[in-house]
Amino acid sequence: MPGASLDPVLLAPRPPCTPEDAVAIGRRFGVRAVAARDLGSERDRTFLLQAGDGAGVAVLKVSNPAESPDTLDMEAAAVAHVATIDPGLPVARPVVAEGGERLAWHADGSTHWARLYQVLPGHGRHDPRLLGDAALGHWGTTAARLARALRGFVHPRAIRTMPWDVQHALHTRSMLPAVRDELARGAVERVLDRFEHVVAPRWRTLRAQVLHTDLTIDNALVDDHGRITGIVDFGDMSHTALLADLASVLDSLCTGRLGDEMFRTARLVVDGYQRVTPLEQDELDLLGEAWAARAAITVAIGAWRAAEGLEDQAFAERYTASSLAMLDQVLTIGWDELRRQLATPHDGADSTAGLAARRERVLGPAVEALTYDEPLQVASAAGVWITDVGGRRYLDAYNNVPCVGHGHPRVAEAIARQARMLNTNLRYLHGGAVELAERLVETLPPSLDTVFFVNSGSEANDLAWRLATTSTGNAGALCTHHAYHGISHATAPISPEVLPDELVPAHVERWRPPDTYREEHLDAAEMAAALDRLAARGIAPAMAILDGVLQSDGVHDPPAALVQEWVRLTRAAGALWVADEVQGGHGRTGEALWSFARFRIEPDIVTLGKPMGNGHPVAAVITRRDVAEAMAAHTVLFSTFGGNQVSVAAAHAVLDVLADERVLPRVVEAGEALRAAVGEVAAGHRVVGHVRGVGLANAIEIVEDRRWGAPAPELARRIRDRLRHHGVLVGITGRAGNVLKVRPPLAFTTEHVPVVAQALRTVLAEVDP
Ligand code: PMP
Repeated sequence: MPGASLDPVLLAPRPPCTPEDAVAIGRRFGVRAVAARDLGSERDRTFLLQAGDGAGVAVLKVSNPAESPDTLDMEAAAVAHVATIDPGLPVARPVVAEGGERLAWHADGSTHWARLYQVLPGHGRHDPRLLGDAALGHWGTTAARLARALRGFVHPRAIRTMPWDVQHALHTRSMLPAVRDELARGAVERVLDRFEHVVAPRWRTLRAQVLHTDLTIDNALVDDHGRITGIVDFGDMSHTALLADLASVLDSLCTGRLGDEMFRTARLVVDGYQRVTPLEQDELDLLGEAWAARAAITVAIGAWRAAEGLEDQAFAERYTASSLAMLDQVLTIGWDELRRQLATPHDGADSTAGLAARRERVLGPAVEALTYDEPLQVASAAGVWITDVGGRRYLDAYNNVPCVGHGHPRVAEAIARQARMLNTNLRYLHGGAVELAERLVETLPPSLDTVFFVNSGSEANDLAWRLATTSTGNAGALCTHHAYHGISHATAPISPEVLPDELVPAHVERWRPPDTYREEHLDAAEMAAALDRLAARGIAPAMAILDGVLQSDGVHDPPAALVQEWVRLTRAAGALWVADEVQGGHGRTGEALWSFARFRIEPDIVTLGKPMGNGHPVAAVITRRDVAEAMAAHTVLFSTFGGNQVSVAAAHAVLDVLADERVLPRVVEAGEALRAAVGEVAAGHRVVGHVRGVGLANAIEIVEDRRWGAPAPELARRIRDRLRHHGVLVGITGRAGNVLKVRPPLAFTTEHVPVVAQALRTVLAEVDP
């Protein structure tokens, strides 16, 4: 006998109410029916009261003798609550007769409460296999709406132990002897074991409220399209986790579907649910187990009630075969695969070596290789910490894109919310992009008043090139010697970092930026010579482009006077000055939002990218009106994704967080502390030639010996790999490949400095004892 804590309604016999009794009770409600048809019920009696022509005139429900009137009051209150909050939900509402909402009917020495409902349109006991895809989504949506409508509903009777509610799945263990088939019993036991070990400990952390818990094909009426026209039977209501509702819907709607179709069905239902209520990660993680538990419960309770004679066996066990088929399938594929089927189907799960080999095969040889001798297989990240699939945390001192920190909640929420609401293009009027453009313009010199939205740094620089060539009529470009500005056809030639010298085309000339370590190229002679070389080939320059932190050239901080001279020479040659802020912008330097600000120059074009959306692809070009007008004379610009509402929402959130968290002064402080701490560690090691940087764009130059400065790229790579081993991620840059690039998310603070310093101390002691 199951535990005494079970709600007694499950133990008491059904009311001995005949159709004739039903007609008589109906009369007491004032309904003149001539016949009654039993609609089937687990523990109550439900009849359709019929007129002479067989048409239904009302539904009569006679409750189990163990049913408490307080519980019935709760049901009535819940229905009234739902009808108020979401009047569009077709919940069956009780008919209030003269004698009130319910009448007592006495039989076998017990009192049974009878309630009367209006007849709702639609068919009952529909075959769930006939539900089409749209109907499946609609069911999920309706379940979520019903739960949402009940969110604010409270009632003391909702704290109860109904074994149909998956939170009490383990109560059905005591029913298992009634499951006669050994294999079936074993399957149910395995599912309950899994529930006990995996779900039960986390259950109380899940979102919970009073819920219907039993929105099944038996408790809904549907139209010809399978859409719900009536929701009946609030008799299982409980305070439980949202998952309980979903488990019952999935269990019911997937009945009779097997293989891929079963999972496809489940996903469509869950999609429908998430249209209204997005699931939390924990809920998605446990959904499979909850669904399987509900199927296990169905088998256990059916067998037990049949064995106890509480219900007709055929009715009690009508879903046993399909539930067992579901369990069989789940136990065959395993819980991880079930989770993948429901939530994360494309994680490409594999060992690091296996995945690296697959990557190599499918992405091919031209794609940049994985970083580190032991590649990092990443699982998640938050702030400045990246976690690998083995659960190890690494301090991210490398990635500049997650500028306000990995997974910043403001940005993540902005993206998710906007993606749910609207995501289209700039051909439709929407305030977000206009406001973002205005915001960006406000941060720039007044002449830069026109904004184009694109999707990557490459695209921004590509467009800058088009603007520059169009507005100047010239065809030459200047960039620094080892610059990187993009992947596109126009920007690859100005990206010598990834281009062999001999492939730098004739329209591009390069100048060497100052090397403050070796004290070379400290004046504008390099730039003047580059312009001369271009002129000698008969090519006039359209633009000179500079990454304000010279990241690819090894991270340098050229003096403002020198940059001003570069700009002057560029303009004198008829070209525009492009400030590439894809690396240096959005607060990287700490002194200002844009890295060119410290040179006190006024660029003709500014390009933004990487950190702009904290990892979401969004980029921009900002220029003068006359430059845009030159373009407008020839063509119009449209980028499908450029300025879409989701990207724009991400970009706004980044700017908001930069301001709210006062990131810029923190960058200055963290950068100074980092350079000081690294300098101190490096002092005892001659292989560290130079420590330099601005804000959180920093370089540690590795050389054979500080006194003569010959680059040591192999050693730099080793140090980088050993730092990864000790839990700190940095990169490599510079023409000779010997510069450690320490360029963390701007969420990096002085608190993280000792972590870098300690790892570096350990590694330098290893490689340079
Ligand atoms: N400009 C600079 C200075 C960059 O660092 C980069 C990317 N490393 C780009 C442009 C190109 O940006 P994306 O990769 O988004 O196309």
